[in-house]
Amino acid sequence: MAVAYETDLAKLGTLTGYSGPDQPDDDLLRACVHCGMCLPSCPTYRLTGQEMSSPRGRLWLMRGVADGRLDLLDPIFDEQMYQCLNCRACEAVCPSGVHYGPLVEAARSQLERHRPRPVWQRVLRRVALGGVFGDQRVFRAVVGGLRLYQRSGLAALVRRTGVLKPLKLAETERMMPPVAARFLRPGAERWTPSSPARAVRLFNGCVMGTVFADTNRAAGRVLAHNGAAVDVPVGQQCCGALHVHAGMMDEARALAKTNIAAFEAAPDGEIAVTAAGCGAALKEYGFLLKDDPAWAERARAFADRVRDVTELLADRPLAVPTQAVDRIVTYQEPCHLAHAQRITAQPRAILDAIPGLTLVEMRESSLCCGSAGIYNLIRREMAEELGDRKARHVLETPATAVVTANPGCAMQLRASLARNGSAASVVHVVEVLDEAYGGSAAWPPEGGREPGGSRPQRP
Ligand code: SF4
Ligand code: SF4
Repeated sequence: MAVAYETDLAKLGTLTGYSGPDQPDDDLLRACVHCGMCLPSCPTYRLTGQEMSSPRGRLWLMRGVADGRLDLLDPIFDEQMYQCLNCRACEAVCPSGVHYGPLVEAARSQLERHRPRPVWQRVLRRVALGGVFGDQRVFRAVVGGLRLYQRSGLAALVRRTGVLKPLKLAETERMMPPVAARFLRPGAERWTPSSPARAVRLFNGCVMGTVFADTNRAAGRVLAHNGAAVDVPVGQQCCGALHVHAGMMDEARALAKTNIAAFEAAPDGEIAVTAAGCGAALKEYGFLLKDDPAWAERARAFADRVRDVTELLADRPLAVPTQAVDRIVTYQEPCHLAHAQRITAQPRAILDAIPGLTLVEMRESSLCCGSAGIYNLIRREMAEELGDRKARHVLETPATAVVTANPGCAMQLRASLARNGSAASVVHVVEVLDEAYGGSAAWPPEGGREPGGSRPQRP
């Protein structure tokens, strides 16, 4: 069903242009030649059919503000900058090389600097993105509370009473996988093969290091199986991706500096990342800090070391997996892996190398699933429509599991599949490879229960 959005050009008024730091780069904006080749790749254009909701339409709006034809504070500009999923599918297909991601992020930053927001919204953003995601100790305490909620039986009780439905929180709860029994603490765990050929430093991440800590452990094991000595440097913080997407550039830069310093203390080796969204953000630290003379070079050097874990595994001959994994799976491409990092072949090559495993392609595997950071929490309608579309494509295949490489996609897929009556599991590429190397299976037997929790709830 198409979603209707207001795009009344007659309402466009005058005129507050860009000002201060983090303005959309004028040369990047003018690189768009309006060819329209990006339109079929854009999820919001596919759903709405409206030019304004396409990359070309949004670039036209951004340029309108730059040229003084459109008010920065116009509600249509605001709506379109935030309706965009920042999935960057448009960027990957643009023949003119329009670097769309930084443009929409800069436009949001301008809105956040200049647009009056209700006090409660300002406080909520400060608490959620600054206070919780901005401090690993607070984040871990919050996820620890969630784990207690899941394991104490309170979650089952709350579900039975149905109190979450009127609060519109039932869908949010359905997304959450069982939180790992033990968080991964930087400095506390390492994986060392008998004769290490290289050093790899694991970026832990907020959600990956807590909710999905066992996936990070699987990454450590498979990298060690491939000759890497893996550790998790201390002093890491959130990558800042959510802050960049929300236009909170100063907060993102502060987190970037902390991470750069933490990994400079472990100077040799590549930095492995298990979350596509984090990887894309970390690789762009050079761009984020380009105007800071004290940090620009350090940020570039840091970004040069960052690799998605599938990229690292595929850049050398893979240690041969010996244990058959008799499953049929399909692969959902995380946007920030496929479009922002252009990594599409490596995860498939890893899956193809696993004996017994059959990889079947679903339709539109690279179309956004609707997760997009916290988009699925704040823009439910569009996110659910994309999630349902994705679930239908999975259901068209014989796959009993969806493999992906990003925690946001994993949670969104989990909720969408359950909502659409699918019992398919959702796993990370490294978990499948870990099983093929003799590690424990990350997914339940078909029709069974997940480790540490129940299957996703259906409506
Ligand atoms: S493909 Fe590139 S140049 Fe063409 S309309 Fe889209 S952004 Fe502009
Ligand atoms: S980032 Fe994604 S949603 Fe936004 S304009 Fe580009 S393709 Fe469309």
